[in-house]
Amino acid sequence: MRFHFQGGSRGGQFFLPAKGKPMFQVSVDESFSAGHALRGYKGKCENPHGHNYKVQVTLEGLQLDAIGLLYDFAHLKRVMRDVISGMDHKFLNDQAPFDVINPSAENLAKYFYDETTRQLNAMPEGARIIQGESTRAGLPCIFVRLTGCNLRCTWCDTAYAFHGGTKMSVEEILARVEEFSAAVADGASGKMGATRAISLVELTGGEPLLQPDVIPLAQRLLDSGYTVLIETSGERTISNLPRGVIKIVDVKCPDSGEPDTFRVENLDALDRKDEIKFVVSGRRDYEFARDFTLQHGLAQRVHQVVFSPVHADPKGSWPGMKAQELAEWILADGLPVRLGVQLHKFIWHPATRGV
Ligand code: SF4
Repeated sequence: MRFHFQGGSRGGQFFLPAKGKPMFQVSVDESFSAGHALRGYKGKCENPHGHNYKVQVTLEGLQLDAIGLLYDFAHLKRVMRDVISGMDHKFLNDQAPFDVINPSAENLAKYFYDETTRQLNAMPEGARIIQGESTRAGLPCIFVRLTGCNLRCTWCDTAYAFHGGTKMSVEEILARVEEFSAAVADGASGKMGATRAISLVELTGGEPLLQPDVIPLAQRLLDSGYTVLIETSGERTISNLPRGVIKIVDVKCPDSGEPDTFRVENLDALDRKDEIKFVVSGRRDYEFARDFTLQHGLAQRVHQVVFSPVHADPKGSWPGMKAQELAEWILADGLPVRLGVQLHKFIWHPATRGV
Protein backbone atom coordinates (compact mmCIF):
# COMPACT_ATOMS: atom_id res chain seq x y z
CA MET A 1 0.00 0.00 0.00
CA ARG A 2 1.26 3.43 -0.85
CA PHE A 3 -0.09 6.31 1.14
CA HIS A 4 0.30 9.92 0.19
CA PHE A 5 -0.94 12.78 2.25
CA GLN A 6 -0.79 16.51 1.72
CA GLY A 7 -1.93 19.33 3.97
CA GLY A 8 -1.28 23.02 3.50
CA SER A 9 2.11 23.55 1.93
CA ARG A 10 3.63 20.32 3.30
CA GLY A 11 3.11 16.66 2.60
CA GLY A 12 3.82 13.38 4.30
CA GLN A 13 4.43 10.03 2.69
CA PHE A 14 4.37 6.50 4.01
CA PHE A 15 5.25 3.75 1.59
CA LEU A 16 5.18 0.03 2.17
CA PRO A 17 6.48 -1.59 -1.01
CA ALA A 18 4.77 -4.74 -2.22
CA LYS A 19 7.03 -7.73 -2.78
CA GLY A 20 8.22 -7.65 -6.33
CA LYS A 21 7.34 -4.90 -8.75
CA PRO A 22 3.65 -4.03 -8.47
CA MET A 23 1.76 -4.40 -11.73
CA PHE A 24 -1.54 -2.80 -10.73
CA GLN A 25 -2.65 0.22 -8.73
CA VAL A 26 -5.96 1.53 -7.43
CA SER A 27 -6.02 5.08 -6.02
CA VAL A 28 -8.70 7.08 -4.28
CA ASP A 29 -8.58 10.75 -3.30
CA GLU A 30 -10.42 12.56 -0.55
CA SER A 31 -10.13 15.86 1.27
CA PHE A 32 -11.01 17.26 4.64
CA SER A 33 -10.60 20.47 6.63
CA ALA A 34 -9.15 20.68 10.12
CA GLY A 35 -7.19 22.87 12.47
CA HIS A 36 -3.97 22.08 14.29
CA ALA A 37 -1.00 23.62 16.09
CA LEU A 38 2.52 22.20 15.93
CA ARG A 39 3.81 21.93 19.47
CA GLY A 40 7.45 22.94 19.88
CA TYR A 41 7.71 24.37 16.37
CA LYS A 42 9.68 27.59 16.41
CA GLY A 43 7.54 29.70 14.13
CA LYS A 44 3.99 30.75 13.38
CA CYS A 45 2.81 27.15 12.86
CA GLU A 46 3.04 26.73 16.63
CA ASN A 47 -0.20 28.73 16.81
CA PRO A 48 -3.61 27.23 15.95
CA HIS A 49 -4.33 27.44 12.23
CA GLY A 50 -6.30 25.53 9.61
CA HIS A 51 -5.71 23.55 6.41
CA ASN A 52 -7.65 21.94 3.63
CA TYR A 53 -6.00 18.53 3.47
CA LYS A 54 -5.82 16.19 0.50
CA VAL A 55 -5.46 12.47 1.11
CA GLN A 56 -4.62 9.87 -1.50
CA VAL A 57 -4.53 6.13 -0.88
CA THR A 58 -3.00 3.84 -3.47
CA LEU A 59 -3.20 0.07 -3.28
CA GLU A 60 -0.64 -1.82 -5.31
CA GLY A 61 -0.56 -5.48 -6.16
CA LEU A 62 0.69 -8.12 -8.52
CA GLN A 63 -2.53 -10.05 -9.09
CA LEU A 64 -6.16 -9.33 -9.93
CA ASP A 65 -9.09 -11.22 -8.51
CA ALA A 66 -11.37 -13.58 -10.38
CA ILE A 67 -13.24 -10.75 -12.12
CA GLY A 68 -10.23 -8.64 -12.96
CA LEU A 69 -10.16 -6.24 -10.01
CA LEU A 70 -7.18 -5.43 -7.83
CA TYR A 71 -9.53 -4.12 -5.18
CA ASP A 72 -13.09 -2.83 -5.08
CA PHE A 73 -12.78 0.90 -5.64
CA ALA A 74 -16.08 1.72 -3.90
CA HIS A 75 -15.07 -0.30 -0.85
CA LEU A 76 -11.72 1.45 -0.56
CA LYS A 77 -13.42 4.83 -0.88
CA ARG A 78 -15.88 3.92 1.89
CA VAL A 79 -13.08 2.88 4.24
CA MET A 80 -11.21 6.04 3.51
CA ARG A 81 -14.25 8.22 4.24
CA ASP A 82 -14.74 6.40 7.55
CA VAL A 83 -11.18 7.18 8.57
CA ILE A 84 -11.37 10.80 7.48
CA SER A 85 -14.72 11.49 9.14
CA GLY A 86 -13.02 11.30 12.56
CA MET A 87 -10.80 14.26 11.63
CA ASP A 88 -12.98 16.46 9.43
CA HIS A 89 -13.74 19.92 10.88
CA LYS A 90 -11.97 19.09 14.14
CA PHE A 91 -9.08 20.62 15.99
CA LEU A 92 -6.58 17.78 15.56
CA ASN A 93 -4.66 18.47 18.77
CA ASP A 94 -7.80 17.46 20.68
CA GLN A 95 -8.16 14.14 18.82
CA ALA A 96 -6.31 10.94 19.75
CA PRO A 97 -3.52 10.20 18.97
CA PHE A 98 -2.70 13.85 18.21
CA ASP A 99 -3.45 14.91 21.75
CA VAL A 100 -0.13 13.14 22.46
CA ILE A 101 1.87 13.20 19.24
CA ASN A 102 2.21 16.25 17.02
CA PRO A 103 -0.37 16.52 14.20
CA SER A 104 2.34 17.05 11.61
CA ALA A 105 1.74 16.06 7.99
CA GLU A 106 4.09 13.10 8.50
CA ASN A 107 2.26 11.81 11.58
CA LEU A 108 -1.11 12.31 9.86
CA ALA A 109 0.12 10.28 6.90
CA LYS A 110 1.21 7.49 9.24
CA TYR A 111 -2.13 7.67 11.09
CA PHE A 112 -4.17 7.38 7.89
CA TYR A 113 -1.97 4.55 6.69
CA ASP A 114 -2.41 2.62 9.95
CA GLU A 115 -6.16 3.22 10.22
CA THR A 116 -6.88 2.43 6.59
CA THR A 117 -4.83 -0.75 6.83
CA ARG A 118 -6.57 -1.78 10.04
CA GLN A 119 -10.03 -1.26 8.55
CA LEU A 120 -9.19 -3.03 5.30
CA ASN A 121 -7.90 -6.01 7.27
CA ALA A 122 -10.82 -5.97 9.69
CA MET A 123 -13.61 -5.55 7.16
CA PRO A 124 -15.89 -8.56 7.02
CA GLU A 125 -15.45 -9.98 3.59
CA GLY A 126 -18.01 -9.01 1.09
CA ALA A 127 -16.44 -10.11 -2.09
CA ARG A 128 -17.06 -11.65 -5.45
CA ILE A 129 -15.22 -14.93 -5.45
CA ILE A 130 -15.43 -18.43 -6.84
CA GLN A 131 -17.35 -20.68 -4.48
CA GLY A 132 -14.73 -23.17 -3.31
CA GLU A 133 -16.62 -25.78 -1.31
CA SER A 134 -19.99 -27.52 -1.47
CA THR A 135 -21.70 -28.77 -4.62
CA ARG A 136 -21.74 -25.20 -5.95
CA ALA A 137 -17.93 -25.08 -6.06
CA GLY A 138 -16.77 -23.20 -9.12
CA LEU A 139 -19.69 -20.79 -9.30
CA PRO A 140 -19.18 -17.03 -8.89
CA CYS A 141 -20.51 -16.12 -5.45
CA ILE A 142 -20.72 -13.15 -3.09
CA PHE A 143 -19.29 -14.03 0.31
CA VAL A 144 -20.54 -12.23 3.41
CA ARG A 145 -18.19 -13.25 6.21
CA LEU A 146 -19.49 -12.48 9.69
CA THR A 147 -17.16 -11.96 12.64
CA GLY A 148 -16.80 -14.35 15.58
CA CYS A 149 -16.80 -18.06 16.31
CA ASN A 150 -17.39 -19.96 19.53
CA LEU A 151 -15.36 -23.00 18.38
CA ARG A 152 -11.62 -23.38 17.81
CA CYS A 153 -11.04 -26.10 15.24
CA THR A 154 -7.39 -27.14 15.06
CA TRP A 155 -7.24 -26.66 11.29
CA CYS A 156 -9.37 -23.49 11.09
CA ASP A 157 -8.28 -21.42 8.09
CA THR A 158 -10.47 -18.41 8.88
CA ALA A 159 -9.20 -17.58 12.36
CA TYR A 160 -8.81 -13.98 11.15
CA ALA A 161 -12.61 -13.78 11.33
CA PHE A 162 -12.70 -14.44 15.08
CA HIS A 163 -12.26 -10.75 15.89
CA GLY A 164 -12.43 -7.34 14.30
CA GLY A 165 -14.77 -6.49 11.49
CA THR A 166 -16.92 -3.47 10.92
CA LYS A 167 -20.37 -3.13 12.42
CA MET A 168 -22.92 -2.94 9.62
CA SER A 169 -26.71 -2.95 9.58
CA VAL A 170 -28.72 -5.41 7.52
CA GLU A 171 -29.51 -2.54 5.14
CA GLU A 172 -25.83 -1.70 4.69
CA ILE A 173 -24.94 -5.31 3.97
CA LEU A 174 -27.76 -5.56 1.46
CA ALA A 175 -26.48 -2.44 -0.27
CA ARG A 176 -22.97 -3.93 -0.43
CA VAL A 177 -24.30 -7.17 -1.85
CA GLU A 178 -26.17 -5.19 -4.49
CA GLU A 179 -22.92 -3.45 -5.44
CA PHE A 180 -21.08 -6.74 -5.75
CA SER A 181 -23.86 -8.38 -7.71
CA ALA A 182 -24.24 -5.54 -10.18
CA ALA A 183 -24.36 -6.50 -13.79
CA VAL A 184 -21.08 -5.98 -15.59
CA ALA A 185 -20.66 -4.28 -18.92
CA ASP A 186 -21.14 -6.46 -21.94
CA GLY A 187 -17.73 -7.01 -23.51
CA ALA A 188 -18.93 -6.51 -27.08
CA SER A 189 -21.42 -3.66 -26.73
CA GLY A 190 -20.01 -1.97 -23.64
CA LYS A 191 -23.59 -1.70 -22.32
CA MET A 192 -24.58 -2.83 -18.85
CA GLY A 193 -26.46 -6.10 -18.73
CA ALA A 194 -30.01 -6.11 -17.44
CA THR A 195 -29.58 -8.99 -15.02
CA ARG A 196 -27.35 -9.47 -12.01
CA ALA A 197 -23.87 -10.71 -12.72
CA ILE A 198 -23.99 -12.83 -9.55
CA SER A 199 -27.09 -14.00 -7.72
CA LEU A 200 -25.48 -16.52 -5.36
CA VAL A 201 -24.71 -15.25 -1.83
CA GLU A 202 -23.03 -17.22 0.94
CA LEU A 203 -23.31 -16.18 4.59
CA THR A 204 -20.31 -17.57 6.43
CA GLY A 205 -17.87 -16.79 9.21
CA GLY A 206 -16.57 -17.52 11.75
CA GLU A 207 -19.94 -18.81 12.82
CA PRO A 208 -22.68 -16.72 11.17
CA LEU A 209 -25.44 -18.05 13.43
CA LEU A 210 -23.93 -16.29 16.45
CA GLN A 211 -25.43 -13.08 15.08
CA PRO A 212 -29.23 -12.97 15.37
CA ASP A 213 -29.55 -10.50 12.49
CA VAL A 214 -28.34 -13.19 10.12
CA ILE A 215 -31.95 -14.44 10.00
CA PRO A 216 -33.54 -11.18 8.75
CA LEU A 217 -30.52 -10.72 6.49
CA ALA A 218 -31.05 -14.13 4.91
CA GLN A 219 -34.77 -13.44 4.48
CA ARG A 220 -34.15 -10.06 2.86
CA LEU A 221 -31.67 -11.62 0.46
CA LEU A 222 -34.16 -14.33 -0.46
CA ASP A 223 -36.89 -11.72 -0.93
CA SER A 224 -34.54 -9.85 -3.27
CA GLY A 225 -34.17 -12.91 -5.46
CA TYR A 226 -30.77 -14.21 -4.37
CA THR A 227 -29.93 -17.86 -3.86
CA VAL A 228 -28.67 -17.90 -0.28
CA LEU A 229 -26.24 -20.40 1.21
CA ILE A 230 -25.33 -20.43 4.87
CA GLU A 231 -22.32 -22.34 6.14
CA THR A 232 -22.41 -23.26 9.81
CA SER A 233 -20.50 -25.45 12.24
CA GLY A 234 -23.61 -27.44 13.27
CA GLU A 235 -23.22 -26.35 16.88
CA ARG A 236 -26.00 -23.70 16.67
CA THR A 237 -29.63 -24.47 15.96
CA ILE A 238 -30.61 -24.15 12.31
CA SER A 239 -34.34 -24.67 12.83
CA ASN A 240 -35.14 -20.94 12.80
CA LEU A 241 -33.52 -20.19 9.44
CA PRO A 242 -35.84 -19.16 6.60
CA ARG A 243 -37.01 -22.17 4.60
CA GLY A 244 -35.46 -20.99 1.36
CA VAL A 245 -31.90 -20.88 2.72
CA ILE A 246 -29.63 -23.68 1.57
CA LYS A 247 -27.84 -24.91 4.69
CA ILE A 248 -24.32 -26.31 4.51
CA VAL A 249 -23.81 -27.85 7.93
CA ASP A 250 -20.56 -29.20 9.33
CA VAL A 251 -20.32 -32.20 11.59
CA LYS A 252 -17.02 -31.84 13.43
CA CYS A 253 -14.81 -34.94 13.40
CA PRO A 254 -12.67 -35.98 16.41
CA ASP A 255 -9.39 -34.52 15.14
CA SER A 256 -10.96 -31.09 14.67
CA GLY A 257 -10.51 -30.55 18.40
CA GLU A 258 -14.26 -29.78 18.58
CA PRO A 259 -15.90 -33.25 18.57
CA ASP A 260 -19.40 -33.76 19.97
CA THR A 261 -20.42 -30.19 19.20
CA PHE A 262 -22.97 -31.13 16.53
CA ARG A 263 -26.62 -30.70 17.57
CA VAL A 264 -28.25 -33.95 16.52
CA GLU A 265 -31.66 -32.25 16.46
CA ASN A 266 -30.34 -30.19 13.54
CA LEU A 267 -30.76 -33.30 11.39
CA ASP A 268 -34.54 -32.81 11.58
CA ALA A 269 -34.22 -29.28 10.21
CA LEU A 270 -32.35 -30.41 7.07
CA ASP A 271 -34.03 -31.16 3.76
CA ARG A 272 -33.18 -32.25 0.24
CA LYS A 273 -31.65 -28.94 -0.82
CA ASP A 274 -29.16 -28.89 2.07
CA GLU A 275 -25.66 -30.33 2.46
CA ILE A 276 -23.67 -31.90 5.29
CA LYS A 277 -19.90 -31.58 5.34
CA PHE A 278 -17.21 -33.50 7.20
CA VAL A 279 -13.66 -32.14 7.15
CA VAL A 280 -11.43 -35.19 7.42
CA SER A 281 -7.82 -35.13 8.58
CA GLY A 282 -7.06 -38.85 8.89
CA ARG A 283 -8.37 -42.37 9.28
CA ARG A 284 -10.00 -41.75 12.66
CA ASP A 285 -11.96 -38.80 11.25
CA TYR A 286 -12.90 -40.79 8.17
CA GLU A 287 -14.32 -43.68 10.19
CA PHE A 288 -16.28 -41.25 12.36
CA ALA A 289 -17.71 -39.53 9.27
CA ARG A 290 -18.50 -42.83 7.56
CA ASP A 291 -20.26 -44.28 10.61
CA PHE A 292 -22.21 -41.07 11.27
CA THR A 293 -23.32 -40.89 7.64
CA LEU A 294 -24.59 -44.45 7.62
CA GLN A 295 -26.06 -44.43 11.12
CA HIS A 296 -28.19 -41.33 10.44
CA GLY A 297 -29.02 -42.10 6.79
CA LEU A 298 -27.60 -38.73 5.75
CA ALA A 299 -27.60 -39.48 2.03
CA GLN A 300 -31.39 -39.83 2.17
CA ARG A 301 -31.87 -36.65 4.19
CA VAL A 302 -29.92 -34.07 2.22
CA HIS A 303 -28.92 -33.12 -1.29
CA GLN A 304 -25.29 -34.10 -0.74
CA VAL A 305 -22.92 -35.38 1.92
CA VAL A 306 -19.42 -33.99 1.36
CA PHE A 307 -16.18 -35.43 2.73
CA SER A 308 -13.44 -32.83 2.44
CA PRO A 309 -9.75 -33.51 3.18
CA VAL A 310 -8.00 -30.96 5.41
CA HIS A 311 -5.80 -28.69 3.32
CA ALA A 312 -2.31 -28.28 4.79
CA ASP A 313 -1.68 -24.98 6.54
CA PRO A 314 0.67 -22.90 4.36
CA LYS A 315 2.53 -21.84 7.52
CA GLY A 316 2.92 -25.45 8.68
CA SER A 317 0.62 -25.28 11.72
CA TRP A 318 -1.21 -28.47 10.69
CA PRO A 319 -0.62 -31.14 8.05
CA GLY A 320 -2.93 -31.79 5.16
CA MET A 321 -4.60 -34.98 4.08
CA LYS A 322 -4.17 -36.41 0.61
CA ALA A 323 -7.40 -36.25 -1.41
CA GLN A 324 -6.37 -39.46 -3.16
CA GLU A 325 -6.23 -41.36 0.12
CA LEU A 326 -9.68 -40.14 1.13
CA ALA A 327 -11.05 -40.95 -2.32
CA GLU A 328 -9.73 -44.52 -2.06
CA TRP A 329 -11.34 -45.02 1.36
CA ILE A 330 -14.69 -43.72 0.05
CA LEU A 331 -14.51 -46.03 -2.96
CA ALA A 332 -13.45 -49.03 -0.86
CA ASP A 333 -16.47 -48.57 1.41
CA GLY A 334 -18.86 -47.68 -1.42
CA LEU A 335 -20.07 -44.60 0.44
CA PRO A 336 -22.80 -42.42 -1.13
CA VAL A 337 -20.85 -39.22 -0.54
CA ARG A 338 -19.04 -36.63 -2.62
CA LEU A 339 -15.33 -35.94 -2.28
CA GLY A 340 -14.95 -32.19 -1.87
CA VAL A 341 -11.71 -30.28 -2.28
CA GLN A 342 -11.30 -26.62 -1.39
CA LEU A 343 -11.26 -25.41 -4.97
CA HIS A 344 -10.28 -21.84 -4.05
CA LYS A 345 -7.01 -23.15 -2.59
CA PHE A 346 -6.07 -24.53 -5.97
CA ILE A 347 -7.09 -21.38 -7.84
CA TRP A 348 -5.37 -18.93 -5.47
CA HIS A 349 -2.46 -19.39 -3.09
CA PRO A 350 -3.71 -21.34 -0.02
CA ALA A 351 -2.78 -18.44 2.28
CA THR A 352 -4.89 -15.94 0.34
CA ARG A 353 -7.65 -14.42 2.48
CA GLY A 354 -11.06 -13.47 1.23
CA VAL A 355 -11.33 -16.10 -1.50
S1 SF4 B 1 -16.30 -23.57 13.24
FE1 SF4 B 1 -15.38 -22.79 11.35
S2 SF4 B 1 -14.73 -20.69 11.84
FE2 SF4 B 1 -15.14 -21.74 13.80
S3 SF4 B 1 -13.15 -22.50 14.43
FE3 SF4 B 1 -14.16 -24.15 13.30
S4 SF4 B 1 -13.46 -23.93 11.16
FE4 SF4 B 1 -12.99 -22.00 12.25
